[in-house]
Amino acid sequence: MIPITTVRIGPEEEALVLEVLRSGQLAQGAYVERLERDFAAIHGVRHAVAVNNGTTALVAALQVLGVQPGDEVITSPFTFVATLNAILEAGATARFADIGPDFNIDPTQMAALVNERTKVLMPVHLYGCMADMHPIMDLATTHGLHVVEDAAQAVAASYHGRAAGSFGLGCFSLYATKNINTGEGGVITTDDDDLADRLRVLRNQGMRQRYQYEIAGHNYRLTNLAAAVGIPQLARVDDINRARERNAGRLREGLSDIPGLVVPMEPESGRTHVYHQFTVRITDEAAVARDAVVERLTALGIGCGIYYPKVVFDYDCYRQHPGVIADEVPAAFSTASQVLSLPVHPYLTDDELSAIVAGVRKALTK
Ligand SMILES: *Cc1c(COP(=O)(O)O)cnc(C)c1O
Repeated sequence: MIPITTVRIGPEEEALVLEVLRSGQLAQGAYVERLERDFAAIHGVRHAVAVNNGTTALVAALQVLGVQPGDEVITSPFTFVATLNAILEAGATARFADIGPDFNIDPTQMAALVNERTKVLMPVHLYGCMADMHPIMDLATTHGLHVVEDAAQAVAASYHGRAAGSFGLGCFSLYATKNINTGEGGVITTDDDDLADRLRVLRNQGMRQRYQYEIAGHNYRLTNLAAAVGIPQLARVDDINRARERNAGRLREGLSDIPGLVVPMEPESGRTHVYHQFTVRITDEAAVARDAVVERLTALGIGCGIYYPKVVFDYDCYRQHPGVIADEVPAAFSTASQVLSLPVHPYLTDDELSAIVAGVRKALTK
């Protein structure tokens, strides 16, 4: 079986985790600070604030921006559920702008939803390709809106020379399957000294000095143990992402001539794609339907996944939720019925890449 994702933790991670264990300082401390420094440097920002997961990063970002009940946050309808859960957790109302052929939110559709209740624009850099940030930042400036980037899948991705998380408040995930992983973990990036300071206070029970509470906070802290798993990986992030990019190139080349299979758009010049996922579309022109392709690939020993099978709000619990406005998003609905993600992780061998290409070709033959 070729799995859709493979996690490899090497001797550097083992040594650093052991160091933390022997130090006795397992909770937030010096290793978390080191992870934050490295993370900020990689993304070209002044501050990185580590938290316990990517969902928390999104919630904390919205909280620190002062989002209130009644405020609207415009996000993508084609994303992992955490994006929506974070908006609802913060007490805001979620609105959805339809997506474009790059699977990301369409800035023109976003503009059409802006009104006097809009407070935050929350693009998602899906699969490791950044959303079209220039028009999104223009829209934010014109209307005085905040920008929170859901960069959970886009560690070290870039857009016209600037890294993910350097446009608005950047929210990253270090979950086990993400490009850089600490088991569970998250990071918020910003250039704003005041926001960074408030995020650090918020994550630590609203406390600056012991028992001096400034705001009603929470425990959003990451542990030194988790940070020790992430630090050596961050030093290799370029290699990890380049390997994914190379594998994506091989898959694109091998799969570009199959009727009814659409390979992911090559990012336009200026955008680097870090291929958290390599996601194709199986359209009506294909000889075999998408769900049958999944069954055939599984039988052939090729792992694959559907990210995501439905539009994020297309569940009873969200359709009935007072914080959800189910905007018209036809492109997201059709995309959800077509997507199929193939293995692209950095540890694939040449033979495995050839087997994936051959397997997909076979699965799509009537
Ligand atoms: C993984 C992910 C999150 C949430 O991160 P966790 O660390 O799992 O809480 C949020 N948004 C997107 C798009 C993700 O892929």
